[in-house]
Amino acid sequence: MALTTPGLHHVTAIAGDPQRNADFYVGTLGLRFVKRTVNHDDPGTYHFYFGDREGTPGTNITFFPWSIGGRQGRFGAGQTTATAYLIRPESIDYWTDRLEAEGIDIGRTTRFGDTVLRFSDPDGIGLELVASANAETTAEPWEGSPVSVDHQLRGFHSITLAVAEVGPTASVLTDVLGFELEAETEGRRRYRADGGGPGSIVDLVETDAGRGRMGVGTVHHVAFKATDIEEQKRWRSVFAEHGLRVTEVIDRKYFHSIYSREPGGVLFEAATMGPGFTIDENVTELGSTLTLPDWLEDERKEIEEHLLEFDDPTI
Ligand code: ZN
Repeated sequence: MALTTPGLHHVTAIAGDPQRNADFYVGTLGLRFVKRTVNHDDPGTYHFYFGDREGTPGTNITFFPWSIGGRQGRFGAGQTTATAYLIRPESIDYWTDRLEAEGIDIGRTTRFGDTVLRFSDPDGIGLELVASANAETTAEPWEGSPVSVDHQLRGFHSITLAVAEVGPTASVLTDVLGFELEAETEGRRRYRADGGGPGSIVDLVETDAGRGRMGVGTVHHVAFKATDIEEQKRWRSVFAEHGLRVTEVIDRKYFHSIYSREPGGVLFEAATMGPGFTIDENVTELGSTLTLPDWLEDERKEIEEHLLEFDDPTI
């Protein structure tokens, strides 16, 4: 039996230069720099989180910045081709002007009745802003943003996954994660998480590009919301029942995680709603210092010496 998730928890991608990455997501897109920590599996690399005021699940795009010369990724099957944030319809002109003023090329289209602005971040990661009038949001406005509250990004709208054939990935969405096919248009199939709500959409498209290669400019994994560790343990069984390999429950300090690569090649994660980003920083101080999990505190000096050069993002 499938479990259900309310939708997306976070999206994690690989960037090049950390400064350029943070300057873009904070200075241009107006997200809050919620957390600066290191990749727990590779402590020589930063792990940045950008989201709403509190880093609410469903608002956070996160990055491992590998360096300017880091191995470039290659587009192909098994990749997330777009991470879409929700905006108000009244904000379409604002965002068009704001992005064009930065020299960013924008593609404008209409999809399932909503206006969609498509563009890429400085590393080539596909982003979209979807103007949807009635969509719900749980994003908390960030008063320190260079973008006024009215126009701020309002959490995730959806992600688009490109796969060689839709069938196997679709069956994981529906049979394991409880999504339902909602609509279909021009080679795009839209699945919605049970119950709907913010960030509950996954679109599938087919590509004949061959398997992609993970690297700078590609998404590393996408995470869905799990209530708590108990539910996560049940998820493990459901993944296994469908013949999928799945990790143990891993403590990521701000949430607990399990990971499973779906047959189309996309790495899925299920992440718990808590404890959240205020576990080691006051909400007013989020992102202001390098935080480390307890088991890396003893190595703080060496870690800081080896991390790439980085200053507070430019707003
Ligand atoms: Zn993750």
